[in-house]
Amino acid sequence: MPKIESREIRLVSRPNGLPTAANFALARVELEPLQDQQVLVRNLFMSVDPYMRGRMNAGKSYVTPFEIGKALEGGAVGEVIESRAKELKPGDAVTSNFGWREYFIATPNELHPVSREVQPLSVYLGALGMTGMTAWAGLNLVEVKAGDVIFISGAAGAVGNVAGQLAKLRGCKVIGSAGSMKKVMFLREECGFDIAFDYKTGPVLEQLNLEAPDGIDVYFDNVGGEALEAALSALRVHGRIIACGGISGYNEEKARPGPSNLFNITTKRLTMKGLIVRDWMDHQNEFEKEVGGYLQSGKLKSKETVVKGLDQAEGAFIGLFKGENIGKMVVRLA
Ligand code: NDP
Repeated sequence: MPKIESREIRLVSRPNGLPTAANFALARVELEPLQDQQVLVRNLFMSVDPYMRGRMNAGKSYVTPFEIGKALEGGAVGEVIESRAKELKPGDAVTSNFGWREYFIATPNELHPVSREVQPLSVYLGALGMTGMTAWAGLNLVEVKAGDVIFISGAAGAVGNVAGQLAKLRGCKVIGSAGSMKKVMFLREECGFDIAFDYKTGPVLEQLNLEAPDGIDVYFDNVGGEALEAALSALRVHGRIIACGGISGYNEEKARPGPSNLFNITTKRLTMKGLIVRDWMDHQNEFEKEVGGYLQSGKLKSKETVVKGLDQAEGAFIGLFKGENIGKMVVRLA
């Protein structure tokens, strides 16, 4: 096999605050010929996700930091081009954690085969992938059930819109907040949210009190900050919080103080549960069966914002923090 040339995006410096293009560099690499038990994969789509911002910082948290000068990593879906492993053949579609690059070599145990019948294959990065599974796991974590009034922040994003659609399928009343009128209309008209509001047009608590005067049972937190503080006030006695994300703080150079009204947890006997989707990998088949079924039957809609080209990937990533996506942000590579 002739050597394959591939391009990859590397982290060249750690961001302070919001990342900029200067933190990234596009590099060319030559891949070595395949060894036994290896396959060559061409990425078709790669994912950009808010959690990657945490990996760009130095110091260990629940994720290991990206290394300076090395290719970034992340979810991707691609096709096998050449195989020296009996488990996979050319043309097979696979997901992996080898995003941010055009081609890569891996062993079958580093790859998850997926069906090519699901189109576009980028759905495996969104509704049927990590973010869809986060939404599904979050609802299971606090046992969201029919009749619950659930408020979801970051509702028009990858996790949020699926969480809201799944909550509707469970018979909940669903309220979402998002950062533009276009996103509010998407939630109301395409995702079936009962209520959606633009958190940039007024204080979240005022808007929540107006839309849910009797309070909420569940809060799905993607944002933290003001939205979490508002939800703590709006939750009813024995309310539940899914602590999924806190994107409003990811680019803060100095951590902001937490909500001023945490004492609501005591007075209202609230439950707040932290969610890390990785803990749910044992349930992947169950998730794929349930959510795949909803997608197939049209009960769940998959929404994506697609950016084209590896050289646009860092812009797509930075765009997450500027609200540039509706649904899952993905980069098309081929
Ligand atoms: P999204 O698709 O929601 O993309 C990010 C969105 O966040 C933007 O479009 C923007 O929407 C909103 N946003 C950006 N900056 C701010 C800000 N300062 N304040 C409020 N909203 C902001 O991302 P995901 O759906 O992939 O992730 C949502 C959350 O879930 C993140 O916090 C992420 O880290 C977390 N997560 C957690 C997982 C876990 O295992 N715990 C797994 C996956 C995701 P808008 O225009 O509405 O502001």
